[in-house]
Amino acid sequence: MRFKFTFLFLLLSSQINANNNEYIIEGVDELGQEVNQKIKVENKNGKILYQGDILVSGVNIRDVFDISPMAIVKPSNYRWRNGDDSIAYFRFNGLDFRQRQAVYHAMSVIERSSGVRFKESQSEKDIIEIVKSGDSECYSQVGKVGGIQELGLGNGCFTGSIIIHELLHALGFWHEQSRSDRDNHILIHWDNIREEKKHNFNKQVGGNLGNYDYKSIMHYSNNSWAIDKTKPTITAISDPNLILGSNSLSSTDISTLQNMYGVTPKLRASSGQCGGNYDLYWSMPKQGGYHEYYAEIYLDNEFYRDSDFRFGETSIKIYSNSSVKVRLCESVQGYCGTFSNTVYLPRDTSDDCDRGPRD
Ligand SMILES: [Zn+2]
Repeated sequence: MRFKFTFLFLLLSSQINANNNEYIIEGVDELGQEVNQKIKVENKNGKILYQGDILVSGVNIRDVFDISPMAIVKPSNYRWRNGDDSIAYFRFNGLDFRQRQAVYHAMSVIERSSGVRFKESQSEKDIIEIVKSGDSECYSQVGKVGGIQELGLGNGCFTGSIIIHELLHALGFWHEQSRSDRDNHILIHWDNIREEKKHNFNKQVGGNLGNYDYKSIMHYSNNSWAIDKTKPTITAISDPNLILGSNSLSSTDISTLQNMYGVTPKLRASSGQCGGNYDLYWSMPKQGGYHEYYAEIYLDNEFYRDSDFRFGETSIKIYSNSSVKVRLCESVQGYCGTFSNTVYLPRDTSDDCDRGPRD
């Protein structure tokens, strides 16, 4: 799906003032019909934000909207893909130790659910710069824009769900309630939204990926931007009491991530440890392209050995009379980049070795 946009205002720049924060996109959709979309933005301390937390300052607005506006960015060059790899590079600017830990944790949640890998780098061409913003704003650009792109976290943004939400923007997610088909699923209560905040409920034009997901971490909550916080600004048509949005990745968020960036392998123990034999197996990612990986094995929680595998192998046998902990690692400059879940098997104290394998 392709849109040709002609911009009446081509560039967003830092000179934009509060009275001039409206952009009109004129274009023709793939059916030849005219598409006119008003893009309203807000200037928050010099940051130009669309729909509350989507950063559009510092870049040509075309870079933001020339990607078919959808629930996720469609063209793969706006994704963090390099061949088969899905690596999003990042660096910190101004975050303290605890704040960085919160970001690492949010990244690990995304990594556990998908083939995305976050890697810290100062030298890559395309980098998400995670900055401590001076106010309470939380924001990100959408998709891989190219060059240094900013993801801002102010005081109050350091909760897991907010960081994951902003990271998903950077990975290419738009807001769920801005999907072009949202009016089939939700009601917007315009009378409870201040005039200057109504643009936060803009709809995108274009197609959507997957079914509408009320529980997406990218969905506004029922009273987002409400004048009267006791009343909703959004309700589901099918069930006005349905709680919208989530503090964690929904199953649809995960499948969308996996659709965009591949899946993470799941490590399982397939047989018991009677006699000290363990069979472990895993599924390989459909996409991912990890060429160097190994198993890290702990016996009685002491690091014991790691094993080299060739890409494509999917099982390992371990002999041990003690407890065993295993995880698969992607080799990152000699360190373990998390590649799978960790399987823990307690020490088997049973003398009975005739019961056969167990799960
Ligand atoms: Zn957002």
